[in-house]
Amino acid sequence: MAVDFNNAVKTDEGALVNGIVMNPIVEQCEGCGRIEAFADSKFCGTYPQPAAKWRLGNCNFATHVKTETKAKGKVNPLKASKRAAKKK
Ligand code: SF4
Repeated sequence: MAVDFNNAVKTDEGALVNGIVMNPIVEQCEGCGRIEAFADSKFCGTYPQPAAKWRLGNCNFATHVKTETKAKGKVNPLKASKRAAKKK
C-alpha cells in the first residue's frame, strides 16, 4: 500500500505521515517507480527509511533493480538419475 503524502507534514528529518517519520530517499533509490515527491524532496512511497532497505544489499521493493534468476526449470531427480545411468 502506497503512502499518502496529502496529509504529510514536513519535519527536520523528512515528512511526518500518520505519525510515521518518512526519511528522504537515498542515492540508490534514484530511478525507482515508488518514489514520491513531497515538499521539494523525494520519499519512498512504500518504506519510511530507504537507507535501511539498502543496508544489506538491494532493496527488495525496488522497481529499477533487476535480479537475475537462473531459469533452469525443475529437474526431476528420477529422470536425472536414469539419464546419468545411460551415460555410463
Ligand atoms: S522501494 Fe526501495 S528503492 Fe524504491 S524508493 Fe523505496 S527504498 Fe528506494
